[in-house]
Amino acid sequence: MQKLELGTISPTDTGAFNRQRVINSLLGEANLSRSAIARKLGLSESALSRIVRDLILDGLVCEVGEMHETGRVGRRHVTLDLVANASVIAVIWLTVFSQGVSIVDAQGRRLASMELPKLAERQHDEIPSLLADGVRQLASRIGRSVTKFAGVHVCVVGELDATRTTILKCSLPNIASQQLGVSLRERLGLAVELFSMGEVFNIARMHHQASRIPINPEAQVVQDISVETALVLNVTIGVGAHLALPNAGFESAVNERMFGHVKVSGGQRLCQCGQRGCLGVEAGGEGVLIDLGLRGLEADPIDPTGLRAVLELAEKHNEKAIAALKRAGRTLGENIYPICAVVRLDQIVLAGSVGRTPSYAAAVAEGLRDVLGPLQPSIPPVFVCDVDYQRAAELSGVIIYLFKAIRSD
Ligand SMILES: [Zn+2]
Repeated sequence: MQKLELGTISPTDTGAFNRQRVINSLLGEANLSRSAIARKLGLSESALSRIVRDLILDGLVCEVGEMHETGRVGRRHVTLDLVANASVIAVIWLTVFSQGVSIVDAQGRRLASMELPKLAERQHDEIPSLLADGVRQLASRIGRSVTKFAGVHVCVVGELDATRTTILKCSLPNIASQQLGVSLRERLGLAVELFSMGEVFNIARMHHQASRIPINPEAQVVQDISVETALVLNVTIGVGAHLALPNAGFESAVNERMFGHVKVSGGQRLCQCGQRGCLGVEAGGEGVLIDLGLRGLEADPIDPTGLRAVLELAEKHNEKAIAALKRAGRTLGENIYPICAVVRLDQIVLAGSVGRTPSYAAAVAEGLRDVLGPLQPSIPPVFVCDVDYQRAAELSGVIIYLFKAIRSD
């Protein structure tokens, strides 16, 4: 049991939290010295050395070389890195936009991967075997036995049960109401844990340097995002929301889909849920498709092809596509303010295929500023988590594994 430092009133294990932050640093940047990490995280060099000593004993971190620090002639620093072979993790991501399986090592490197584009067409009861076969195929491709894997990390858009084995609701109809964790564990003989995409993007953003530059120019660059309150918004066809609190750990499996079904004032578009004017359809990719006449006003099963085409057009500076994305982004920005009225947000993070599109993200910041500006002087900075579903799933899988590895001792 870690002794809590004086003045710490957090009920969480500060030692484990700091060990996790050290691992985060090493995943983001290889070959850091102890003193560089200590400076980055605001820890004393002696505290940092203790954490590193334990991580080395656990076989998760190793000393890799020596470097000379600039400006400090004569002082040599041993640099550190994660041990790549500490473990191998199978990662599965299941969203409407993309689905697949990856194998990653403990440094976050992708060893093998496959997409499963036809997954949406498969029957409900075929899914567990399809995914288990994918893991086995990749394992044989890299010449590793599945039994040596640390576990399976499954990422879905939707709502999970408290045991993280069952998907209660999901945007892919054939995945919903599925005890996927149990089925995969039976087939592969590995630990399986389910995570929601909001959680996944929240974990992944910590390793992504680009996610630390806000898109609204007046905002400050964040130094260490792991200790801040963040609203993570995952925007693709609809809108998902996840509130990340400092020191609260990664896991907060509330229903991230609920936020998308809050009604927007003046909204008229018909949502999948049967209501008109939900935030998800007004501010998500579905609303963009409706505006461009690419989708009927009557709800039908979601096909990501149209949205993919719109995002490609926007990338080529197509005015109509950009205008539709901006309108949707503004709608999201204008509707975040009730949350700002009750929680002091250090940052708003946009993720997902639509959320990370530059014109959309800029419009979110603009809409938020226009509504919140007259009410309060400080506007939360808006960031973009510029990793796709696959990479976000892979990064979060590694972090979760490493975090569990250090928590279990
Ligand atoms: Zn709805």
